[in-house]
Amino acid sequence: KLSKRLQTIADRVTPGSRTADIGSDHALLPVYLVQSGRVPSAIAGELNTGPYQAACKAAASAGLTAVIAVRQGDGLCVLHPGEADTVTIAGMGGSLMADILEAGRLSGKLEGVRELVLQPNVGEEFVRRWLVRHGWTLTDETVLEEDGRFYEVLHAVLMPSEESDNAGLYDPSFLNKPASQTELWTNWLYRMGPHLLRQPTLTLHKKWEHEIGKLERILAQMAGSDTPDARAKEAEFRMEIAQIQEVLACTP
Ligand code: SAM
Repeated sequence: KLSKRLQTIADRVTPGSRTADIGSDHALLPVYLVQSGRVPSAIAGELNTGPYQAACKAAASAGLTAVIAVRQGDGLCVLHPGEADTVTIAGMGGSLMADILEAGRLSGKLEGVRELVLQPNVGEEFVRRWLVRHGWTLTDETVLEEDGRFYEVLHAVLMPSEESDNAGLYDPSFLNKPASQTELWTNWLYRMGPHLLRQPTLTLHKKWEHEIGKLERILAQMAGSDTPDARAKEAEFRMEIAQIQEVLACTP
């Protein structure tokens, strides 16, 4: 049985899509997708030798070596253009994820890919910004809690530009803030998720309460240090907390 996190990712993959899972580790996701009949075939890409060998072993012991290709390499370089309809990347930082997507785009490896299912562990904003910059439309976002940790799963597709409305998606006017503050609240939409904020769930609130708790613990540790640097950091964290609370208070 998959973890709730991996199951949420698997459920976002369009049935029938040839899927490449990048940074696949033990290939749990591709093995599940093929075994369950959701996808006909998959590619498991891994940079590091240990996880690559684990993925090879997993595909072999599931008897799926004919339909799961396990390949070692950096990011999307393991793909041939046109080979995958869907790319999944999970369990790494959003900044690294955006770098992998960008390198893949520049080398043509994303050609033919129509769907991305991405689960950044941190730095979700880097992924959202990359998607917007390259014409991908964020169609769905989910936040889930598992074993005391929070995970976001982002689903994006390529659609004709007349059907896509990225500008509208990141327009913070639904938060009812003054127009002079548009840039500030747009930045918070990138950080917190434009769909998540339009339909906030209890889990979203819990995630950000948890983030506030982390910031408050750092502030508590900083109390007593009186350098200009510490003061500036303290003010920055306090503002961050206030802004998170303000966004959550404005959500529908
Ligand atoms: N995707 C799995 C999941 O979500 O459970 C595994 C996540 S694991 C924490 C991250 C994996 O990404 C590691 O196995 C690591 O070796 C791999 N990785 C890191 N950088 C990579 C890159 N540039 N290209 C391919 N794999 C990478």
